[in-house]
Amino acid sequence: MCTGIIGVGVLVSAPAVAAPATPSSTASAVGTELSGKTVFLDPGHQGGAHSENLQRQVNDGRGGTKNCQTTGMTTLDGVPEHTINWKVSELVRSSLESLGATVKTSRADDTGWGGCVDDRARAAGESGADVAVSIHADSTSTTTDADKHGFHLIVPTLPIPSAAADAAQSEGGRSASTLMRDSYVRAGFEPANYAGVENGIQERSDVAGPALTTVPLVFVEMGNGSNPDDAALLESSDGQLKHAIAISTGIIDYLLGSDTAEASSAGPATTTAAAPAGAKTTDITVPTATAPSTERSAVEGRSALSGLLESVSPSVESFGVDGLRGLVTPDNVSSVSTFARGLLKQILADR
Ligand SMILES: [Zn+2]
Repeated sequence: MCTGIIGVGVLVSAPAVAAPATPSSTASAVGTELSGKTVFLDPGHQGGAHSENLQRQVNDGRGGTKNCQTTGMTTLDGVPEHTINWKVSELVRSSLESLGATVKTSRADDTGWGGCVDDRARAAGESGADVAVSIHADSTSTTTDADKHGFHLIVPTLPIPSAAADAAQSEGGRSASTLMRDSYVRAGFEPANYAGVENGIQERSDVAGPALTTVPLVFVEMGNGSNPDDAALLESSDGQLKHAIAISTGIIDYLLGSDTAEASSAGPATTTAAAPAGAKTTDITVPTATAPSTERSAVEGRSALSGLLESVSPSVESFGVDGLRGLVTPDNVSSVSTFARGLLKQILADR
């Protein structure tokens, strides 16, 4: 069983009791790999404790208006999208903060209001983030849809009327979205097979966020809550952790070198292929050979770190079955965050 290297230390260090609500800066050894980088996380939608009018019309970034917000979908088993988005976002936040990044978020909790779509786009721009990530999950039916599944990245149809938004989304936004797609694929997720998605990317002109955001934006639809397999991952703590690792890795790939041409040049990585659920992993191979020989040190660093992070995914699956599930209750996201943070620290210590 694979517990070795990463497992024991991390699991022992995870507190049995949930940490306080502000888990970020109390950790002792925060990494510096992402020092100076700012990430804006936008967990889609909001909690139900508000009295806002969702139908209030706001700027859609294309010369028209649209509803201020929507409530988001609900999975087959009745889990609201806003909660899934929130938990994954918190995991991503703790992962990035453990590497020294500054993380700002569009909403402060999963109970109340979080702003209209235009408010969130404005907040992303004002944050001065190097990259913003809107985290969502999709649905295709109010009943079971066994056929449609998979993740996708929404990118805006270009050009965007706002020159600042167009510049941000045509360059950094496209690059970051492509890297996120690649990260999802390497983590074992399948691109969506519906709604005109091509290779995990869906171009749309009717989503206001990307058309209003003046920093590079990634808009991820993690999966289809109407599909039983996708829903199971979205609803479970270990599934949410898998999504968070894929998202964190995509962000790190972008922040440590946004040259997309190099992103796939590592070739067919030997250890990063997705392990099928339940696959046994007997050790954690550090895929040092996946970095292409190149003169670009930033790219080498990015590839090495990315490879290390990817190598963790099968381990997470193992822990999900054997250890993590016992440690983490569905509502104890703080402990999952601690797990993710500890995992990343261990990875970095082993570099
Ligand atoms: Zn959504």
